[in-house]
Amino acid sequence: MLDEPHRAVEAMVRRFAEERIRPIAGELDASERFPAELYREMAGLGLLGLTVPAELGGAGLDHLGYAIVMEELARGYASVADQVGLVELVATLLVEQGTEAQRARYLGPLLAAARHPAYAITEAEAGSDVAAIATRAVRTERGWRLEGAKLWIHNAPVCDFAVVLARTDPEAGKRGMSIFLVDADRPGFVRGRAEHKMGQRASPLGELRFDGVELPPDALLGPEGRGFHLMMSVLDKGRVGIAALSVGIARAGLEAALAHVRTRRQFGRPIGDHQGVRWMLADMAKDIQAARLLVHDAARRLDRGERATLACSMAKCFASDVAVKATRDAVQLFGGSGYVRGFEVERLYRDAKVCQIYEGTNQIQREIIARELFAAAGDR
Ligand SMILES: Cc1cc2nc3c(=O)[nH]c(=O)nc-3n(C[C@H](O)[C@H](O)[C@H](O)COP(=O)(O)OP(=O)(O)OC[C@H]3O[C@@H](n4cnc5c(N)ncnc54)[C@H](O)[C@@H]3O)c2cc1C
Repeated sequence: MLDEPHRAVEAMVRRFAEERIRPIAGELDASERFPAELYREMAGLGLLGLTVPAELGGAGLDHLGYAIVMEELARGYASVADQVGLVELVATLLVEQGTEAQRARYLGPLLAAARHPAYAITEAEAGSDVAAIATRAVRTERGWRLEGAKLWIHNAPVCDFAVVLARTDPEAGKRGMSIFLVDADRPGFVRGRAEHKMGQRASPLGELRFDGVELPPDALLGPEGRGFHLMMSVLDKGRVGIAALSVGIARAGLEAALAHVRTRRQFGRPIGDHQGVRWMLADMAKDIQAARLLVHDAARRLDRGERATLACSMAKCFASDVAVKATRDAVQLFGGSGYVRGFEVERLYRDAKVCQIYEGTNQIQREIIARELFAAAGDR
């Protein structure tokens, strides 16, 4: 059960998603465009920096509130929630690790939708194995020089700055990585090709290259050598966001399927009168509710300040699997029309798939769950 303040947030965002996002979702998917005016509107509603404290310009919500907002936005269109989730990751790092000067330079413009971020970890030879990154930051007399390339980076084609994980001590493994704030207008900051994706197509994706980018000393975010740990710990929160986003996609699939089976008639009656169809909807509904409860449990653990890695991975893995299954079944229940561009369920199925891949694939989530399980049983 949600309390009154959380229900109010849910109602506000549901209305916004219903009125302002859902009607244009198909158009945004087809045009692969994220309109600047939507960004600004979201900033005006306080949807950027949801868990950032109010005194720093954010909405001051807890993680449960964040999860509720992500579900509602994704029910409207997943790419919108995806953008909000990205802002949340970058804002969290700035709040937790940024100096006053770094916050002044990046956090305010980020929350006002005046500067768009990227969160750059993945490389050609370092996807699931983040510890294998090769991007290198070398100390110079005037600060740092950054050299390397990042792949599959959300917002790469449009970002104004990137939070970049780079190796600062090649001998120190995971303890030899640091985070840098890199402005896109610095010489040597190169955007590679923009990719065309299967789903969540309004979230731009591409490559970033750093060809000897010179950085000042205060481009370093957080302590030197702690970058791997810091970026991974923020991903716990990111995974709650993706899990909630998955629940939103699944719910949109269920709602579309339910409306369809109540009106589409075959054999002289609505197809929803057939038990085989009814049971598919029943499974969708119970799976979605189970996923939502896992998401809320993980969020509440973060709110209590607990170490929530296990709960966050369980929620991300389960909810994204549910989203793929629920939207696949929604396509099935629409029959031929479910397979045709322009029908919502066709897009939802495409939008759901990447939730099993980004922010750590679901195999990696299962590895994390197993690791936590074995550690709790006494293994090291
Ligand atoms: C739409 C989209 C947006 C993204 N946004 C960003 C972003 O903003 N920033 C960023 O840094 N990255 C981003 N990524 C990258 C994403 O995080 C990686 O794609 C993901 O972590 C997987 O890495 P990979 O693609 O190299 O696959 P690989 O690591 O090569 O994995 C390939 C397959 O092998 C499996 N596998 C690998 N290792 C194991 C193992 N130990 N056990 C079992 N199975 C294993 C994987 O689960 C997967 O099925 C994005 C990706 C996409 C598709």
